[in-house]
Amino acid sequence: MTEPLLITPTELRQWHYCPRVVFFDRCTPVKRRETVLMTSGRDKHQSELVRERRRTLSRYDLTEGERRYDVRLTSITLGLNGELDLLIVDGQEAYPVEFKHTQRSPDSGHRLQLCAYALLVEAELGLTCPHGYWHSSRTRQTYTIPFDTRLRNRTLKTTQEVRKFIWREQCPPSTSQAVKCLECELKNFCGDTL
Ligand code: SF4
Repeated sequence: MTEPLLITPTELRQWHYCPRVVFFDRCTPVKRRETVLMTSGRDKHQSELVRERRRTLSRYDLTEGERRYDVRLTSITLGLNGELDLLIVDGQEAYPVEFKHTQRSPDSGHRLQLCAYALLVEAELGLTCPHGYWHSSRTRQTYTIPFDTRLRNRTLKTTQEVRKFIWREQCPPSTSQAVKCLECELKNFCGDTL
């Protein structure tokens, strides 16, 4: 039997950054080298999760809630699987939380990623996710991301689009922002971009 083709919420974010990053990783032997920045970002991310265990819920505007860390979720129906940093559960409602070590505020790719986790939580745990939280460990700011119909539909549509390209092993268009290619470790494989 053929394995179902599942993608991760992280791949949705990467796809938003540049679809080819996902294509190279999934459909070719080309692997991205981990840069110093990526390694340091991952270490900071882990430290943030350790500190999170000692904090109250005040930054989330919640008074109660059970914290669940590193929640693994899979939905064949959605075509998604992944591991969520943190899920706060309060009764029948749940709030996915993502941490990023960045100075920036969340962009559309981060919103897609968080919403994909929300869809997984709803599908697999039977809870409702009205919104989630995105926290920058650099600026210490926490953003509330509402999961409105528009974002949900965009997340579902993008998931299907990414799966279709991977399934067909079809090279997607490059990013329209050529500036991203200047620092990209895959630029040697994207002959048409520079
Ligand atoms: S070089 Fe540009 S088009 Fe190619 S993967 Fe990198 S960002 Fe995308």
